[in-house]
Amino acid sequence: MEIKRGDLVQIVKPRLCGCADNVGQIFIATETMRAWGRGFCPTCHKNTFCSGVMVASGDGDRWHEFSRLKKIDPPSTGELKGVPLRLKEPV
Ligand SMILES: [Zn+2]
Repeated sequence: MEIKRGDLVQIVKPRLCGCADNVGQIFIATETMRAWGRGFCPTCHKNTFCSGVMVASGDGDRWHEFSRLKKIDPPSTGELKGVPLRLKEPV
């Protein structure tokens, strides 16, 4: 699987620490990058492994581990009516 800018993706796996607060979130990939080292879970503040490809969502400053994501097929044009293109994470 490859995720490119503009792809519709869904978070389908919990973080390495076990937190699953944003599983189910759907967003449009805006950027991808390769990361090294470790990141911190925003929920429990444990280390989460983040080496590898990261994909940015919406505003571009939220990065998600590629291994947690699944690319989903965008709905056909007709079904897109009334659906917001960018879903914001709850704060
Ligand atoms: Zn956590």
